[in-house]
Parts: sequence; C-alpha cells; structure tokens
Amino acid sequence: MTETKDKLEQAHLDFISTVSHELRTPLTSIRGFADTLLTSYDRLTQEQREKFLLIIKEQSNRLINLVENLLTVSKMQSDKELMVYKTVDIAPIVDYAVQMIKNQYKTHKYVCNYDKNLPKILVDTDKLQQILLNLIDNASKYSSENSTVTVSLGQNYNDNTLNISVKDEGIGIKQEDLNKIFNKFSRIDSPLTRKIQGNGLGLYITKTLVEKMNGKIDVKSLDKGSEFIVTFKIASIEDNGKNKIKE
Ligand code: ADP
Repeated sequence: MTETKDKLEQAHLDFISTVSHELRTPLTSIRGFADTLLTSYDRLTQEQREKFLLIIKEQSNRLINLVENLLTVSKMQSDKELMVYKTVDIAPIVDYAVQMIKNQYKTHKYVCNYDKNLPKILVDTDKLQQILLNLIDNASKYSSENSTVTVSLGQNYNDNTLNISVKDEGIGIKQEDLNKIFNKFSRIDSPLTRKIQGNGLGLYITKTLVEKMNGKIDVKSLDKGSEFIVTFKIASIEDNGKNKIKE
C-alpha cells in the first residue's frame, strides 16, 4: 500500500519536474529575446529585430501546444471526459484532417487511398479528429519537404475491423525505440529530432484516446520512414444510427 503510494508520489514529482523543465526552456528564451529587444532596440538591425520577434512567437506557440496537451492529459486522466459515440463514415473525417495539415505543410505531398464502400465505425468524432491530426502532423513534421505522406483506409474482413494507416518517408524510428514513443513525454533524442519541436505528449494522448474507443494502435519501421496503424471495430447493425454517451 505504502509502496504504491510512494510510487504514485514519485510519478507525480517526476511529472512536475518534467513539466517545469518544458515550461522553463521556452520561457527563458522568450524573456531573453524580449530583454534584448528592450535594452538594445536601437543597436539592432531590422533583420535582427524580426528574427528575435519570430523566436518569441515560435516559443509562445510551443508553450500554447504544451498547455493544450497538458489540459488534454489532465481531462483524460480525471476520467470525467465524456465520450460522445456516433456511427460515422470515416473518409470525410480523414479528408478534413489531411486538409488541415496540408495547409501547414505546403510542400509535402498527401496521398489518400481509401477502399470503396467502407463500413461505418462507432467513435467519438472529435477524438478521432485529434488522433488523425496528431498522426498526420507527426508524419509531416518528421519528414522532409517534398516527401509524401500516405493515408490509407481499408477493411479487414477476417476480424471485422477498419484500419487507418498513416505512412511517411521521413527520419524513421529505430526498432528499439518503437515501444518507448507512446510513453508520456517520450521523445527520441537524436540530432535529427532535436531540430524538430515537440513535447512528447502527442502519441501518449493518441494511444490513450484510441484505446478509450476500444481501438488499437501499432507502429512499424519502414525502409524509409514509419507507418502508424490504428484499428477500430466496424459498427454493428445495432450501433447504426445510435448515439451513445459514456464517461
Ligand atoms: P512530439 O512529436 O511532440 O515529440 P509525440 O508523442 O507525438 O511527441 O512523438 C513522440 C516521439 O516519437 C517524437 O518525439 C519522435 O521522436 C517520435 N515520432 C513520432 N512520430 C514519428 C514519425 N512519424 N517519424 C519519426 N519519429 C516519430
């Protein structure tokens, strides 16, 4: 009993320490560049001023993403989050997510391969949207300009499931790192990933949401890049047209 309590307390302290670190890094940078702009404004060239303001903006975005992810994690863990289930056609939801990411990564190519006459699935549409945005955003963020991100939808007749695959041609994930990336705050440290911004919460949130909706998530390392596969059960005839709300 005390051991479990100690472990929980330690996990809590580790969490606070990681969050504080994640908050301090961008805040220190924002304060430093704001100070320089205030004290040396006249001595800086226009180019330098713009560069510093851009860093302040990027670091503020980093903080906003972190706070949004932390709020999502806290909602998920409180178990008070309502899930609003509906039987839906998935293709338009995927199209929308691809379009949203496409607007941010103008030079990437996005290919959508959908099987015909896909059956419906029973999911919370907002949560599914968040899952798709996280995976397609990662596929784009961890691959270079002009590379292709492929999103496929297929039915698996053997076990009556629908698969969503998000494939990229990016930096890839080493075999030994595949099981770490779904942990809270887990980022793969390499010269390539260090240049890419993130807080290691996206895949933890994604996996938790997929599993809340009774789905499964897998990842594969490819010759070039990686593939994430999310699987959901196909909605039964009784599910059709029904809306369910669950905590
Ligand atoms: P973030 O991207 O904010 O760091 P995530 O939880 O989304 O956090 O991902 C965790 C880690 O998994 C990333 O830091 C990265 O190292 C690795 N990763 C995730 N998606 C990909 C991908 N498509 N290609 C290569 N590495 C990835």
